[in-house]
Amino acid sequence: MGDFELDKYTIKNLAEWHQQGRVNLNPEYQRLPDAWSDRMRYDLVDTISQVWPMGVILLNVIPRVDEDNVPVEHYDVVDGQQRLRTILEYLSPPESPPSSPSWAISERKEGFRPYKKLTQARQTRFGEYKLAVALLHDYEEGEVQDIFSRLQNSRPLRIGEKIKALRTDFKPTLRALAEHPLFNIAGGRHKSRDANWNLAGLFFKAVYRDDPFNRHEYDFLEGFLRSTQYDETKAQRAMDLCRRLMNYERTVFQVAEDKELLSRDDLGSARLMKWVFTALLVLSDKFALSGRELSVAQGISAYWKSKDAEGNDEWTAYLNSGRTGRIDTREVKACLEQMVNRLLIESAAPPLDAQRYFTPQQRVEIFDLSHDMCASCGTQISRRNFHADHIVPYRKAGPTTVPNGQALCSACNRRKGGSFDPLLVTPAST
Ligand SMILES: [Zn+2]
Repeated sequence: MGDFELDKYTIKNLAEWHQQGRVNLNPEYQRLPDAWSDRMRYDLVDTISQVWPMGVILLNVIPRVDEDNVPVEHYDVVDGQQRLRTILEYLSPPESPPSSPSWAISERKEGFRPYKKLTQARQTRFGEYKLAVALLHDYEEGEVQDIFSRLQNSRPLRIGEKIKALRTDFKPTLRALAEHPLFNIAGGRHKSRDANWNLAGLFFKAVYRDDPFNRHEYDFLEGFLRSTQYDETKAQRAMDLCRRLMNYERTVFQVAEDKELLSRDDLGSARLMKWVFTALLVLSDKFALSGRELSVAQGISAYWKSKDAEGNDEWTAYLNSGRTGRIDTREVKACLEQMVNRLLIESAAPPLDAQRYFTPQQRVEIFDLSHDMCASCGTQISRRNFHADHIVPYRKAGPTTVPNGQALCSACNRRKGGSFDPLLVTPAST
């Protein structure tokens, strides 16, 4: 459990810590600073000159060791960022002033005097001013973020901001992925870099863990980013695959936009981005997608438009589950199966291993022989949600042929043990 100690430190103390590189004015949860006006800066300097008190500065203590292995405390500024920045800039004004106000030229304004122009005695007095500082020890990262956000008029951090703020070995990877141009394509809603961190995190988790499904997005992602033992080789492979899929997705989205298959609004939907990514992940190592950008874009468009059509039970179930605040894995899966099926149908992508997976032509024939009924339970099925199943399972040497194929509904397919057959998320589990 965390605790804090209240103490006083002089401006000189804090300036020294900062000079030693021990003060981080911009921990990840800090939002971009709203620039203080000159007026506010002058007032702060004046407050100090008059030796008037100011509010407490909150520093989160990060224990580190220096190069000689000696323990040394570092500090993340949780509250007081603007005040400290102002004080430090007053002591040594930045050399190129475009972003900073007139530290040097404002002598005559408001009776303000630059630090360098103060008498020695007044410089010393300024340095001896005592700041009230609360040092935070041993709080969990999440707690520090909450402390920060409560100080910001109780505005909680958004998911992307929270992910950005986590200390995780995966951070450089996430940063690189969050900067991927895929996220810029939509123009509209996806301008926020924080949202990109969240998406990049989900994409990365999907590949690293081979687990694109989750119930509670942030909790799962946070758990993953905190707990997974960092495996550099695996992370690099996951990163490469993420990049490849994201590049492909970006091209597909561009085609979809050029051909007006999807609106800019649709393209800006985080859900669409996630699901297309997942569908590509499921398909990419089993079917040859490259060169099929246009037909894949058509498949996405067909799926995205059909989701609102009446009688799309999977989508209705998904929305109902979403309304309760929980996204049940089964409903998410069912919708994804639809999208994957659509992409397979529209793109007619050939399987990379025709021994193992049915070709698009075989799938059409299997469905045409089904009379729109599940071969096991008789439920009505459709082209967009059926599963082409091996009657004699592949692992029992059943051939991948139309006579050994049958069309199943999702439920029966799951009962039979195929998690996503023939499009297994985890290869070789049937
Ligand atoms: Zn069935």
